[in-house]
Amino acid sequence: AVQLKDIRKSYGQNPEVLKGINAAIEPGEFFVLVGPSGCGKSTMLRIIAGLEEVSEGELIIGSETANRLRPNERDLSMVFQNYALFPHLTVEQNIMFGLHVKKIAKSEQIKRCKEAAEMLGISDYLKRKPKELSGGQRQRVALARAIVTHAPICLMDEPLSNLDAKLRARMRSEIRQIQRKLGITMIYVTHDQTEAMTMADRMMILNHGEVQQVGKPLDIYNNPQNTFVASFIGSPP
Ligand code: ATP
Ligand code: MG
Repeated sequence: AVQLKDIRKSYGQNPEVLKGINAAIEPGEFFVLVGPSGCGKSTMLRIIAGLEEVSEGELIIGSETANRLRPNERDLSMVFQNYALFPHLTVEQNIMFGLHVKKIAKSEQIKRCKEAAEMLGISDYLKRKPKELSGGQRQRVALARAIVTHAPICLMDEPLSNLDAKLRARMRSEIRQIQRKLGITMIYVTHDQTEAMTMADRMMILNHGEVQQVGKPLDIYNNPQNTFVASFIGSPP
């Protein structure tokens, strides 16, 4: 679904923050990008989304080179840490906003909004404003807004980091269930190795802008390629 070929990125004159990333993310896969703060996770996601340009390398989405496509020309949806809901719009208007921009028929907007709201258990809150919701409910609105696009690829950058531990655990399994049900490709960023281990079909461990290891969580746990991976994952010595 998404391929990265020797992707390099530096911001201005600063040293490279991505130092030749290669990856092939399969359709329908839950792919987790994990690593310590500052290792380049968000940069990689923003490159896939089209919010940052690469310095070198090729990005392929579907079967075409995407390097030059604008964000809205890429068939994907995004959920970020700070949700970025519009405060003056209702939950319903927030969820349908992207569909409205794309001039999708109102009846279709309402249908999709209803479906997504049911899936996420927020049907009772559609007429409220974001400030009248809890953090977890706002998070669900952000997820609903991604789902209604019906995009085949979804990008999430630390979407659960503002939630308490209990809700975070519940949202992890809800996100996995929804991803499976819709059959979408997920590229999910976290710095939390437990989150990565429990959610990923495959995960990529990044450190200082370099890929340390890619594979299934258990395979990596059992066969860490280097000492960084072993200590990051907490593999037995
Ligand atoms: P975190 O887990 O803290 O979110 P991250 O893995 O997402 O970290 P990035 O945000 O991708 O890390 O940042 C990677 C590196 O690039 C960091 O050293 C950061 O300071 C630098 N960086 C990020 N954005 C910019 C920018 N706009 N200009 C200059 N440097 C940047
Ligand atoms: Mg980040």
